[in-house]
Amino acid sequence: MTLSIPSDYLIVTAIKDYVHCPRFVYYAGCLPAVRPRTYMMDAGAEEHERERERARRRTLRAYGLPDGERRFAQTVVSHRLRLIGLIDELVIAESGWIPVDYKLSDRPSDSFIMQVTAYALLVEETFGVSVTTGYLYLMVTRKLHPVPILPEARAEVERICDAIRCMIDAERMPPPPSARAKCRACEFRRFCNDV
Ligand code: SF4
Repeated sequence: MTLSIPSDYLIVTAIKDYVHCPRFVYYAGCLPAVRPRTYMMDAGAEEHERERERARRRTLRAYGLPDGERRFAQTVVSHRLRLIGLIDELVIAESGWIPVDYKLSDRPSDSFIMQVTAYALLVEETFGVSVTTGYLYLMVTRKLHPVPILPEARAEVERICDAIRCMIDAERMPPPPSARAKCRACEFRRFCNDV
């Protein structure tokens, strides 16, 4: 079945990018032609696909997750937030519905946690269920990191959706992040003349 989604819907990865640096989303939304395709982006996408294959062969117990149905590459959407996403793995267990996002990383960043929270909101609206916990699967360490779906993080997802739309509508470039270490290996650095 093909899902027909209006063009003004945001993709959940924009939430993650915005938390890392709002300019990522500004460039993608206002100057899409400048978006470079880097080796790391290609490597990350390929590794995600390989991880889904490996995950299919693992039992949920190996994850430390409760037993249940597993859906890979699950599309979820919120018409309220005008937000759509593709979850690496959705576990439907007796204890609840659990979105799992794979990351080519050894640590759970704030941006990853916000992405899982957004997936939880979309699972709730798509399937009419309640989600209390998601997980990050950190591919570098092969460890699961639980992400409780907290009220303040839910509100932050909504705030970020509004902030992204305002920024793109106004075509206003946001300031750089206060943690300038993020700029060192950034693919957009040549477009940011003030960092
Ligand atoms: S160089 Fe720094 S300010 Fe510019 S997009 Fe990258 S992280 Fe953001």
